[in-house]
Amino acid sequence: MYKPKSLRIFLTDKCHYNCDYCCNKLPEVQAKIQPKTDKEIRSMILSNLYSAICLTGGELMHNFEYVRYFNMLAGLVGTPVYLYTDGILLSKSILKYFKFAGINIGIHRESQIRMILDYVPNILTYKNIRFCVENIHRYDFAGNIPDKYIKEWVRDDCFKSFDTEDFVKLID
Ligand code: SF4
Repeated sequence: MYKPKSLRIFLTDKCHYNCDYCCNKLPEVQAKIQPKTDKEIRSMILSNLYSAICLTGGELMHNFEYVRYFNMLAGLVGTPVYLYTDGILLSKSILKYFKFAGINIGIHRESQIRMILDYVPNILTYKNIRFCVENIHRYDFAGNIPDKYIKEWVRDDCFKSFDTEDFVKLID
């Protein structure tokens, strides 16, 4: 079955940073986000109408209970799940015991690179991890992460998926 859209779920507003280039603060993005209960989101995932589930925040790991729950639901219908995280609260055991189709780690500070490499020194054994940076020349990856794992993005990218994604925000 052709599935033209993916589902982007905002799990929390909590965030470690306050980036001035944050897509989520843009009024166009805020206007597109529909508040939904966990039961409503559960139905959306189980409808099997989406080609992918994208979990994001803020920092989604502040709401790991729902990362687990929505990942489990998506697994029931075979929908791939992608995480959009700053990586700080990821851990070796999360990477080992929970399977995700892709993990996009947004790099916003140099210190993040050291923190991530501390908990997973051999991070490139996880082939589905990508590092996203707003300005590729600002950071020193010190040869730990080859270029092919690093993706540069610009703020206009925020609008690229507007026609192909539904945006929902988890409410209590
Ligand atoms: S870390 Fe991500 S979600 Fe948080 S302010 Fe920066 S770009 Fe936005």
